[in-house]
Amino acid sequence: MTDSPAATFPTGTVLGYPRIGPNRELKKAIEAFWAGRSSADEVEATAADLRRRTRARLAELGLPTDVPAIPSAFSFYDQVLDAAAVVGAIPARFADLVDERGGVDLAGYSTVARGRGDDLPLEMTKWFDTNYHYLVPEIGPSTTFRYASDRPVREFAEGLADGVQTRPVVVGPVTFLALAKATEDAPEGFSPIDRLPDLVPVYAELLRDLAAAGATWVQLDEPALVSDSIAVPTEQLLAAVVETYRALATELARPERPAILVAAPYGDLGAALPVLASTDVEAVAIDAVKGQVPSEPVPGLESKTLVVGVVDGHNIWRADLDAKLAVLERAEVIGAGAVAVGTSTNLFHVPHDVDVETQLDPTLRSWLAFADQKVREVVTLAEGITEGREAIHEQLLEASDAVRSRAGAPGVVRPEVRDRLAALDADAFRRGDFAARKAAQAERLALPPLPTTTIGSFPQTPDIRKARAAFGKGELTAEQYEDEMKAEIRRVVELQERIGLDVLVHGEPERNDMVQYFAENLDGFAVTQHGWVQSYGSRCTRPSILWGDVSRPAPITVAWSQYAQQQTSKWMKGMLTGPVTILAWSFVRDDQPLGDTANQVALALRDEIADLEAAGIAIIQVDEPAIRELLPLRAEDHAAYLDWSVAAFRLATSGVREDTQVHTHLCYSEFGEIMGAIDGLDADVTSIEAARSKMEILTDIAKAGYPRAVGPGVYDIHSPRVPSQDEVRELLSEAVNTIAVDQLWVNPDCGLKTRRYEEVTPSLEHIIGATQAVRATL
Ligand code: GLN
Ligand code: ZN
Repeated sequence: MTDSPAATFPTGTVLGYPRIGPNRELKKAIEAFWAGRSSADEVEATAADLRRRTRARLAELGLPTDVPAIPSAFSFYDQVLDAAAVVGAIPARFADLVDERGGVDLAGYSTVARGRGDDLPLEMTKWFDTNYHYLVPEIGPSTTFRYASDRPVREFAEGLADGVQTRPVVVGPVTFLALAKATEDAPEGFSPIDRLPDLVPVYAELLRDLAAAGATWVQLDEPALVSDSIAVPTEQLLAAVVETYRALATELARPERPAILVAAPYGDLGAALPVLASTDVEAVAIDAVKGQVPSEPVPGLESKTLVVGVVDGHNIWRADLDAKLAVLERAEVIGAGAVAVGTSTNLFHVPHDVDVETQLDPTLRSWLAFADQKVREVVTLAEGITEGREAIHEQLLEASDAVRSRAGAPGVVRPEVRDRLAALDADAFRRGDFAARKAAQAERLALPPLPTTTIGSFPQTPDIRKARAAFGKGELTAEQYEDEMKAEIRRVVELQERIGLDVLVHGEPERNDMVQYFAENLDGFAVTQHGWVQSYGSRCTRPSILWGDVSRPAPITVAWSQYAQQQTSKWMKGMLTGPVTILAWSFVRDDQPLGDTANQVALALRDEIADLEAAGIAIIQVDEPAIRELLPLRAEDHAAYLDWSVAAFRLATSGVREDTQVHTHLCYSEFGEIMGAIDGLDADVTSIEAARSKMEILTDIAKAGYPRAVGPGVYDIHSPRVPSQDEVRELLSEAVNTIAVDQLWVNPDCGLKTRRYEEVTPSLEHIIGATQAVRATL
């Protein structure tokens, strides 16, 4: 194994831990700072206290403090932004915020994350196949890299002063550049990864500084190595790994640097594992939940510690410890220098502690492991590795009992749900010919050319939120709450009629969240009270738990849609969340293929759609904003994913009549990649985000010869800006020049939920004005 005692790696560790605090302390503190209600010193004090309590908690749960089992992985906003701050990669538009070292203070850091006036923040995008969003670094030929912030060193020193030898965690150089985008002034063909030779020396400085402060290990996160979906071709990525770790691990020798653990969560390392194993890093952490332990010896691993991530860091089920121990035993056989147990990913994807979920059914609770329970699982398995199976006999039995209890519990397997699915034939997944549908719908709906609509939600005003909270607390009766929501629906309908939209929506005031609302109304789901996880920055979500076979005990949206339709002579869209999105934004059972679970949700939605149709709703929209997010990281897995996700959508939507129009809504703009899947959904109308990319996707659509209708967004709802009528008219003119007029709808990019009426009303007026102007030219 390793040659010096300083490099001893713990037998068990976690790759990271939730950083928002058990009561979202960090969210509250940083938001108070942004609002000017507290000082930077106060936020720093709260953060330091949170880090101290995290270290104490992890030690209490059984992680050792004398070897670096406890990660030092705090972030005020995002770990990728943190890395940018360490290496001084702050975009030029924020140059005035940078000190002489190249660093930013907390206020400057916040401004880079959130923007100011015309200075846009760093772009935000999804972190691998998770619902976490990171900030995209902007790197150009003239970006100066320098060791600009020693925050990781200070946080390490803080732990050490507390008697804890932590392991600093930093996004690795390869992943940092692989995830970056080129600055606007970069020449054609420039790629951020070209700057690797300039970046790596800065990491070397950081490592030297960490070693000088007494750090024995550092963790460099390199998840880019498990993905084919990043901009850098695999060959180049692997060459970057070799170059980086030759410089950091070979040319920079210990004890001038800490021992290096390279962590590769979210998937299988594939060809990158032998490459990493051939470098001089001291340890590699693999994801043994999404990926696999190699079945044969890997040259180079014999001198390294292999951290096997058997405990799922990205989902909330209690582990079958017996099976996990078997995986660890297999890992020992392939001849790594040492085997340690880890989590598959950072634990910040799961909530803190399941023990505080006192409202959850106790049986369900006994099947779950949140971050704290996962730490205990790691500690137990580590003991199993060092002391042998017998030493943890009791815990193995207990875990097996939980797994058995779950498998046999009422509701987990419901024959009536399974039989219904098994009895479906191919027709259940297929609608009739599109040309016939198009004619039937045109006749029934009689819409003008370039029909106008919105994506579903209208602003969730403080009054709506207040009413929902009061209803939740029992201060409003169901009847009073319903009356308030109906009044809101009437207001939204009147507004749309006054503005002159063609196809109306009810505004979704009754929905707290587009997934949780359905989870609360379907069997097979549970919702937590405190199960918050970070989505981005200070924003948290509380995913529902999909634990059992899914069915719909009663209609969910029908009464609302029907009421809304009664308020107008225009068409009212029914509005549902699709099966893939419901899965993507929940914690989903891990005991059967996702496709089976998706089909159960789809059947429940199919019933809802049938009821909407019977209630006279002629247009039904099934939102799938997350369909791109679940796309597997490895290209070889795409086809299988698209098969089941498309099938589930079609199962949900194919039961309708020819003259019922099915819409879907997707919200991201790189369409080319999944054009085939969009075609597969077979929706009559697809609304998509397009305003920021200036309708670029229409070219993809025209090129693909896509036959059905699309509504490219003409209003960027992510910004408070009100687009002018001229601006919208230009976008629309471009659209009618690119694809056939009878394929075009006019709508905003996404739901209007997060905007204010002061922005929404004039924006919609401009959209209608622009549409009328373009119609006049047809
Ligand atoms: N119908 C939803 C809304 O308008 C869609 C939201 C989304 O795409 N994320 O809020
Ligand atoms: Zn959207």
